[in-house]
Amino acid sequence: MSCIFCRIVEGEIPAEVVAREPEVTAFLDVQPLADGHVLVVPRAHAACIEDLEPPAADALFRTVVRLAGPVREALGAAGTTIGVNNGEATGQTVPHVHVHIVPRWPDDGAGTIHTIFPRTVKRSLADVGSAIRRAVG
Ligand code: 5GP
Ligand code: ZN
Repeated sequence: MSCIFCRIVEGEIPAEVVAREPEVTAFLDVQPLADGHVLVVPRAHAACIEDLEPPAADALFRTVVRLAGPVREALGAAGTTIGVNNGEATGQTVPHVHVHIVPRWPDDGAGTIHTIFPRTVKRSLADVGSAIRRAVG
């Protein structure tokens, strides 16, 4: 098994685990962006969100919801930024789905999700909306 997160889930390599459930493991990021930076991962290996089976997706996001408050409270944070780099093109470095929970404080100097995009919009909302509705089916 070469996937580092599969190996953490199986307990083959150490990690600072904060929650272990049958289908989901949560542990501290080894290079935290802030104190309390947690990664929540499904047990089943899947590279991207769209590769997750529905039960794994349910379990993953249930755990994210369950941990968001305790992570914030444990660190005395004001909020959390929760995000997923979904696919290599987005900068995802570990190809096993993981949800980042990063505690936030009012003057921590970090931005919002909006600050990672330069806003390169070329199409109308109506055009994009109909394209996505067609794809969703
Ligand atoms: P990505 O850029 O793929 O969304 O985030 C991957 C994250 O995994 C990074 O923040 C990185 O610090 C973390 N990471 C990579 N390898 C390990 C590891 O072996 N152990 C832990 N705990 N975190 C890791
Ligand atoms: Zn894996």
